[in-house]
Amino acid sequence: MSSEFRNFKFSSIYEFVNIVSEAVENGFDFWNFNEDLFVQSALKFNRITLLHIYVSSTLLCYYSRFFRKSGDCVEKEYVDWWIHLMKDYGIRLRRTGYDVDKEDVNAGWAWFQKNETTFMRFFDVISDEVVYILFNDKQFLVQFNRLVRNVLIDEDGTYAEYLELKWPQNARNDDGTIKRCNIPKWVQQAVFHRDKGRCVFCNKDLTGLVNTLNIKNYDHIIPLKDYGTNDPCNIQLTCEECNKKKGGKDIMPQYKYQSWW
Ligand SMILES: [Zn+2]
Repeated sequence: MSSEFRNFKFSSIYEFVNIVSEAVENGFDFWNFNEDLFVQSALKFNRITLLHIYVSSTLLCYYSRFFRKSGDCVEKEYVDWWIHLMKDYGIRLRRTGYDVDKEDVNAGWAWFQKNETTFMRFFDVISDEVVYILFNDKQFLVQFNRLVRNVLIDEDGTYAEYLELKWPQNARNDDGTIKRCNIPKWVQQAVFHRDKGRCVFCNKDLTGLVNTLNIKNYDHIIPLKDYGTNDPCNIQLTCEECNKKKGGKDIMPQYKYQSWW
């Protein structure tokens, strides 16, 4: 992966972050998603994470509902806001199809429908920025991974049948759980930096600078045997002791921060 720097549009991106984190909090399921991509990203560490998939499909769902319900009160300024925002990302959104003068009660909804593929493309592009923020929120990640588990297993605890044909042969164990695979260096590095070289449970230093004896562990937030996935968003940094104590459970990590000054 390149180490290029990217522009980051704080104020608008946080709006999308809020929509996604509220959706996860309310247990809003994956919607209209690419099932093949979902299976690939669940099986083996993929740079397009399950969270990327969730972000773009949830935003599309949210805004198509929004425009359908509030199509009559979409104002020209709001349309312009979208046009300018997408322009910043090199995506050309057209005003064509939106006509305020006609007093069409569904002008907003009709306009959204005409431009739906442009919106889809935009949500795909910004999903990376939304993931960039949410990847830092470890309590969010626990909730998100619980949601992922609910896609994988039905209420009776068996594997979701509609996904059954999507799994490659030998990808899973006999009980349907996903097989363990090596955690690539790029995932380890990202998780190590995100967790600042400390155990997410007891805050123990794992950089090797303070104490050379502490052993670091890359832990599945939702354990594989509990129908967790090999997704970068399902990995956290723990010390060996906490990892042993945690066992097969999923526990909320602690939230501590040190003030900048
Ligand atoms: Zn610990």
